[in-house]
Amino acid sequence: MTEATTTAPESAGSNAEWRDRYASAVMNTFGTPSRVLVRGSGMRVWDADGAEYLDLLAGIAVNCLGHAHPAVVDAVSTQLATLGHVSNFFTTPAQVRLAEELITLSLPGAEPGASRVFLANSGTEANEGALKIARRHGSSSRPRVLALEQAFHGRTMGALAMTHKAAYREPFEPLPGGIEFVPVGDVSALRDAMGPDVAALIVEPIQGEAGVRPLPDGYLEAARALTRDAGALLIIDEVQTGMGRAGAWMAHHILAPGIVPDVVTLAKGLGGGMPIGAVVATGQAAELLGPGQHGTTFGGNPVSASAALAVIDTLRSEGLLARAASLGERWAAELAKVPGVTAARGLGLLIGVALDPAVGPASGIAEDLARAGFIVNAPRDDTLRLAPPLILSDEDADAFTTELSALLAARLASASEGAATTAGSHD
Ligand SMILES: *Cc1c(COP(=O)(O)O)cnc(C)c1O
Repeated sequence: MTEATTTAPESAGSNAEWRDRYASAVMNTFGTPSRVLVRGSGMRVWDADGAEYLDLLAGIAVNCLGHAHPAVVDAVSTQLATLGHVSNFFTTPAQVRLAEELITLSLPGAEPGASRVFLANSGTEANEGALKIARRHGSSSRPRVLALEQAFHGRTMGALAMTHKAAYREPFEPLPGGIEFVPVGDVSALRDAMGPDVAALIVEPIQGEAGVRPLPDGYLEAARALTRDAGALLIIDEVQTGMGRAGAWMAHHILAPGIVPDVVTLAKGLGGGMPIGAVVATGQAAELLGPGQHGTTFGGNPVSASAALAVIDTLRSEGLLARAASLGERWAAELAKVPGVTAARGLGLLIGVALDPAVGPASGIAEDLARAGFIVNAPRDDTLRLAPPLILSDEDADAFTTELSALLAARLASASEGAATTAGSHD
């Protein structure tokens, strides 16, 4: 009996109890989350109070195959039981196979044999690797790196220096220097900023944290031409948009199918929930980091690499890229018609639902949706972000559209009632 008490499952406890313990044990970088999740399966997760949710955020574009997908569970368990970690004094078949796959998937138009991969553990770390490549390019003769306004590239110092939001950057200055921001989508501003002293331009094909905003048509092609003419590298941050989310392996394959960037960075969906990131570079950029110039203890470890290989196999065998493209297109068109929604931006299953200010702040809507059993997030005050697992069914997508319609209709009705009452008070 006593034994039973001491081995009581650690998941017992309510949301409120775990929240209190969180607040006194976990650093307050995220605020205290209101929900404590204990289990996930497919499209659904459950909290400590037993409530069920349809997960339309997927851990921010990470769980591309949903929760506890057997292919990922098998790959991780088998690899961990066989060989879990080796350090980069050694390599493993999983690491090599993954690097080969990523070259083919990310840079299909690159010269055969000219691409190389560096495996890391997260998106920010992939972008740190890309920035180090940029620094090595032309070294002191190219001190400038260009990034876009509203860009988000991560929270470690180098990636943070390329992230535009002042509130994220300023508390941590001085940051690595030489980074300049140019307005998004403005080709002539980019032309003015470009020159022989620029090492690289880094762009997200769809700015995720900025509210899911694809770069305008033609911008990536112009960016490619301008960087090439100036001898600068083009780095595409596909951390959020890559690995099928946009309806192709890479979002830039859809937005600008003719271009080949010098560097692509990946993370989020790559490991299907396991932490992994990658820098894929081609040509000269693939050779700028030599022995001793970069490293990581965990990066490329066989467990994460096996998870990524299972993700790639499953995305392929289940046709999930085409599925993301077709469902995403239909769903976005339907969401755009919902009263209270002003637009549905994005590509594939990365959708930014722009809201009419009359419905109130997006964070409040996201909370109402959570109470109704739908997980989404609000990257901005006027936008909800949907980044569901790519296994999303038509029925689940439609259930969300129905719930959002009802919720926004109620808010629009109370807003116009409020307006009528205010108008009435003048009589
Ligand atoms: C999330 C994200 C990052 C940072 O990835 P982390 O794994 O959180 O470090 C970088 N770039 C983009 C575009 C992202 O969406």
